[in-house]
Amino acid sequence: MAANAPITQDVMTIPRKLPEGPINLVGLTREAMRDALIAAGTPERQAKMRVGQIWQWIYQWGVRDFAAMTNLAKAYRADLAERFVIELPEVVSRQVSIDGTRKYLVRIAGGHEVEVVYIPEEGRGTLCISSQVGCTLTCSFCHTGTQKLVRNLTAGEIVGQVMVARDDLGEWPTQGAPKDETRLLSNIVLMGMGEPLYNFENVRDAMKIAMDSEGIQLSRRRITLSTSGVVPEIARTAQEIGCQLAVSFHATTDEVRDKLVPINKKWNIAELLDALRSYPKVSNSERITFEYVMLDGVNDSDEDARRLIRLIEGIPAKINLIPFNEWPGAPYKRSSNNRIRAFADIIYKAGYASPIRTPRGEDIMAACGQLKSATERARKSRAQIAAESGLTG
Ligand code: SAH
Ligand code: SF4
Repeated sequence: MAANAPITQDVMTIPRKLPEGPINLVGLTREAMRDALIAAGTPERQAKMRVGQIWQWIYQWGVRDFAAMTNLAKAYRADLAERFVIELPEVVSRQVSIDGTRKYLVRIAGGHEVEVVYIPEEGRGTLCISSQVGCTLTCSFCHTGTQKLVRNLTAGEIVGQVMVARDDLGEWPTQGAPKDETRLLSNIVLMGMGEPLYNFENVRDAMKIAMDSEGIQLSRRRITLSTSGVVPEIARTAQEIGCQLAVSFHATTDEVRDKLVPINKKWNIAELLDALRSYPKVSNSERITFEYVMLDGVNDSDEDARRLIRLIEGIPAKINLIPFNEWPGAPYKRSSNNRIRAFADIIYKAGYASPIRTPRGEDIMAACGQLKSATERARKSRAQIAAESGLTG
């Protein structure tokens, strides 16, 4: 496709509810919630105040039951309960790694499942959330990329992952969480399943809710969106979300990047770098994270490291080296530790931070790019159970 062709969305976001059913308030922007309340009979002059009250119950207190919203009149609460719901994705399974990493499999409307990973660290905790079921892109080293895309997540399903994790971590004030302690869930990375910039509006609305000062209150500096390089949406991300940006760079020549990250054929390295150059200024963020997966003999030479430095010159950057997480049937091997260290060293000496990402939750297949197998295994075993029990269909 030509580089300037418009982005086509291969998938549609399904409506959150059938029009005649109750509307889920989770995931609505303040404006959308206001409109919904007015459509449901809330007088226009009260609507803004009602949004403020309901918003705080949902996002600050973690309340899911209208009856508990005690600053609203009883009759109004009953009205709300008839027309609206406060619903989160359903947690199907929860696994805890020996290193404390937690992986949740959550079910969303239509019976689809996505994975959410919580990674506890010293003084902070990062939640890795998904933006799509599967991914339309087909990066050759990524397990999610081999999964057939099913659909985009709604804003409610995206911010719902954060709320589900807060439930499990006991982080709502109603669960007795202390107010001023370091938060267990202090950071969000959009590095789970899917390409967030192919689901821009829903990701934006969800992150705006996560950042809202009267709710979950995560600073935009604590939210990192990772993209494979959807160039036309990068400026919009700076303007409309303003979060930190990570880019799946992974190669230093177009020839290699075309193979690893095929979206490079649409927007090549030069175009990507151009878009990245203006990001920090527009978003008022400090630096861009360049993600670089270390693949044995493919992109890990000293020459690659030096080329990388030349390419990113002038961009405030940190290079995050990711040891390849192998999955069954993967066409690559992880670079040796010595190779990764040598690569990191060259970059570090050129003046860039070059942390090597420690794979977390490997025992529960929770590491980057592995989000698929467990789901598929679970599916398979359920299918097997059905077959064994003589159930079909
Ligand atoms: N689609 C987005 C975000 C999800 S992937 C993107 O591609 O940026 C999050 C990160 O994990 C990306 O940098 C991705 O390239 C990397 N990744 C994917 N599969 C991996 C694997 N098997 N081992 C290590 N990193 C992987
Ligand atoms: Fe999709 Fe990201 Fe995996 Fe590429 S690396 S297939 S963009 S999830």
